[in-house]
Amino acid sequence: MTVPERALPTGLETRLARMIEACGPISVDVFMTHALYDPQAGYYATRLPLGSGGDFTTSPEISQIFGELIGLWVAQSWLDLGSPTPFHLIELGPGRGTQMVDMLRVCQKVPGFMVALKLHLVETNPRLREAQRHALATFSARWHDSLEDVPNGNSCIVANEFLDCLPVRQFVRGEKGWHEKLVGTDPTGRLAFGLGPILPEAPACASPNDAVGAVREQSPGLAAFVGTMARRLRAASGRALIIDYGDPSGQAGDSFQALLRHQKIHPLDHVGEADLTAHVDFAAVISLAKASGLGTSGPISQRRFLQGLGIEARRDALVRANPHCESDLTESVERLIGEAHMGELFHAVALESPLNPAPGPPIGL
Ligand code: SAH
Repeated sequence: MTVPERALPTGLETRLARMIEACGPISVDVFMTHALYDPQAGYYATRLPLGSGGDFTTSPEISQIFGELIGLWVAQSWLDLGSPTPFHLIELGPGRGTQMVDMLRVCQKVPGFMVALKLHLVETNPRLREAQRHALATFSARWHDSLEDVPNGNSCIVANEFLDCLPVRQFVRGEKGWHEKLVGTDPTGRLAFGLGPILPEAPACASPNDAVGAVREQSPGLAAFVGTMARRLRAASGRALIIDYGDPSGQAGDSFQALLRHQKIHPLDHVGEADLTAHVDFAAVISLAKASGLGTSGPISQRRFLQGLGIEARRDALVRANPHCESDLTESVERLIGEAHMGELFHAVALESPLNPAPGPPIGL
């Protein structure tokens, strides 16, 4: 068998390899944290990940309809909350700002919304912040490093493809018990996967039915993330909408992947140059949110969610107004909701403040 040649190590890989040789192997979540967030060479500190010159394409970048429907969801939620003023609209990881621009085009049509609006963008990547500032130049907005920095108040929080950046630990079922998957070095000094010693007990994310070879993932940062949301949503009315990829059925599997210029690559190659993600554990999001006193709706597939918000009617209206764009519009909507595309891989969940005046599922869920 021929083994594909690996790319030359990046400076960040060499730095991590030296650290591992000095201090021992690291867990997958620690590797992801360095590769994504190292202040000098991490992917999200240095890169422009989205767009044709980037590494991956997200729903708002596929079609304006996606952001418009999320705008509708937010505008209806604001009305459901009793049209509070001020109203904080918070986007986590807003990418190039495309989704927010499309959302606000819809929200602007609702009388009183813009007067109530306080716009907040939570973004750590300086280059993406710049792109967002440019896209949202006609709006007054504030940028934050973390959700914790956004002032409390009635709010809607939206996050598309944000939680998949949260680093995960991985565990592998061996013949005699569970091991943590680790990142060490091979004899040539390159980063390589290995297994830690047998763990004294099965990790909490494991199931007793998991067969030998099964991989389970757990995100150590998820509880803190949901906790921050919950503190905010318990202090004032509001909702959060999380859309991401992940299998809500709770099956085992290795979802850790690296994308470089739209191609899947070995996750230990191009360290700091490739986007690293893992599927979101929706069951964990829901149970953590419930345990923190929040209401929850979903998960629901992106297909059913966008259909419930009227994606097909919106596509047909755009086709009527722009007949020459029919095939583009049909194709991009198919990418968003098609079963073979993002429709069944992506899911939406909504979290709800216990202070909301009209409890009940938000539109689309
Ligand atoms: N929501 C956008 C972009 C998704 S990519 C879209 O759908 O197109 C992930 C986004 O989250 C990027 O903007 C990235 O810079 C940002 N991000 C990743 N980790 C972050 C963190 N810990 N805090 C704040 N923003 C983060």
